[in-house]
Amino acid sequence: MQPDRSTIWPYDARGEPGEFYYARYGHPTGAAAEARLGALEGGDALLYASGMGAETTVLLALARPGTTVALAAGAYYGTSQLMRALEPWGLRFVEFDQTGPPPAAQIVWVEAPANPVLTQPDWDAVREHPGLVVCDSTLSTPVYLRPLDEGADVVLHSASKYLCGHHDALLGATVTRDPALTERLRNLRSRTGITAAPDAAAALLRGLETLAERLHRITATAAELATRLAAHTAAVNVRYPGVAGVISFEVADPRGVETRTRTIRNATSLGGARSTIESRHRWEGDRIPGGLVRLSVGLEDVDELWADLEQALA
Ligand code: PLP
Repeated sequence: MQPDRSTIWPYDARGEPGEFYYARYGHPTGAAAEARLGALEGGDALLYASGMGAETTVLLALARPGTTVALAAGAYYGTSQLMRALEPWGLRFVEFDQTGPPPAAQIVWVEAPANPVLTQPDWDAVREHPGLVVCDSTLSTPVYLRPLDEGADVVLHSASKYLCGHHDALLGATVTRDPALTERLRNLRSRTGITAAPDAAAALLRGLETLAERLHRITATAAELATRLAAHTAAVNVRYPGVAGVISFEVADPRGVETRTRTIRNATSLGGARSTIESRHRWEGDRIPGGLVRLSVGLEDVDELWADLEQALA
């Protein structure tokens, strides 16, 4: 028996391309994952090859030579590096303290909360700003924040973190409510080839199944660890914004702490089922305090994690 060409071939019986005729333009797994994430954020989601791929596509879509971006100081350091790399194309960026009003700019780029300094944007000030607002919500996830409801025009995720949630996928996402902007992003994604791979999109479908449960447990553990760290004499300036699992604190010997933990892995990524820890100075230099350590709390038992931190801080 001949298979039904109209359902399984990229081109139908009349030779017309179907919805998914070439994977760089989109594929069924990606579309299914986009629908799920879009429903959680309250907009139209698109997936990209990585968080940085999503950021690159947003800048290509929104910026022109001479465009100024007001970027939250202390936000993910790769974002400022990307903006610096685009300076030869005429992009300008200025960093500002996102706990107050942004300066004059065509684009305001906030991070909720900023990784790793963990400041939160002043949404009242952001809403009053006339520029387009991009919010990197990687560390909040839709469990704790829906930036489109706060006034953002574009939500951005490194879905490699909490959304996929198992340190085994590289994926980025945007969510918007403006159909014209969504189409511009989709078109640029197809032209540049910054499309998500189907297996990464499948990792997102799996991750979203447990997102709320993972985040609730991680947040409860992180709140407890932040309280215990704040009372520990070896840790100062403990920052924990109360959402998800990222805590940062300062110690006299950050390299010593990151290399002494055993349950908590010394690794740069965050947002997975396993806890990770890293001294950030080598990457970020003077942008952050020299002794800053970033801890990403996972799903392990709180007392096991505390015992590991205590022996590493001793
Ligand atoms: N945004 C934030 C807040 C991040 O932490 C990261 C990566 O660490 C990125 C964006 C970049 O994402 P990716 O590593 O998926 O390219």
